Amino acid sequence: MRVAVYPGTFDPITNGHLDILERAVNLFDQVIIAIAEDNYKQTLFTLEERRYLVEQACKHLPRMEVRTFDGLLIDFVQSINANVIVRGLRAVSDFEYEMQMAMMNKKLNHNVETIFLMSASKYSFLSSSIIKQVALLDGSIKGLVPVEVEEALKGKYMLKAGTREG
Ligand code: ADP
Repeated sequence: MRVAVYPGTFDPITNGHLDILERAVNLFDQVIIAIAEDNYKQTLFTLEERRYLVEQACKHLPRMEVRTFDGLLIDFVQSINANVIVRGLRAVSDFEYEMQMAMMNKKLNHNVETIFLMSASKYSFLSSSIIKQVALLDGSIKGLVPVEVEEALKGKYMLKAGTREG
C-alpha cells in the first residue's frame, strides 16, 4: 500500500494546495494531508479552523484523510507507516529550502522518499501569505481559494477591524 503524506501549515488552504492534493490522490493508494500545529510560524487560523477548512475543501476527494501533527514530520510519517512525503514546488525560490528539508528528512529516515509535484502554472504565484495580504486589504481572492476560505478570511479580518475600532 503506497501511503503519502502531504504536509503543510495550510493557513489557509488555497487552490494551489488543492491542485497538488488532487493530483497526489491519483498517484497513491492513500494520501494523508497533515496539518502542522502552530510551530515557529504565527498562524492567522487556529489548528482547528485550518483543519475544518481543509476538510470542507477536500470533501470531494477519495482515498484521503485529514490529520494534524506536532513535532518532527518524519516521526509523524513513520508513526502512520507512510513512505512518501509530497511537496509542491512553485518557483526556483522554493527549491533550496525544499531540497534542504528533503535531504534532512532522508538523513533522519532513509526509508521515506520526498517527491515534488510542480505547481500548476495558473497557481504558481499563489501562497497562503499573499492570499492573506490581499484579503486583509479587501482585494478579490475569488477563484484562488475554496469559497469556505474566502468566507472565513472575511470573517477573520472583519473581527480584527472590529477589535481595533472597539
Ligand atoms: P509550509 O509551511 O510547510 O511551507 P504551506 O502550507 O505553505 O506549508 O505549503 C504546503 C505545501 O504546499 C508546500 O510543499 C508548498 O510548496 C506547497 N504549495 C503552497 N502553495 C502552492 C501552490 N500555489 N502551488 C503548488 N504548491 C503549493
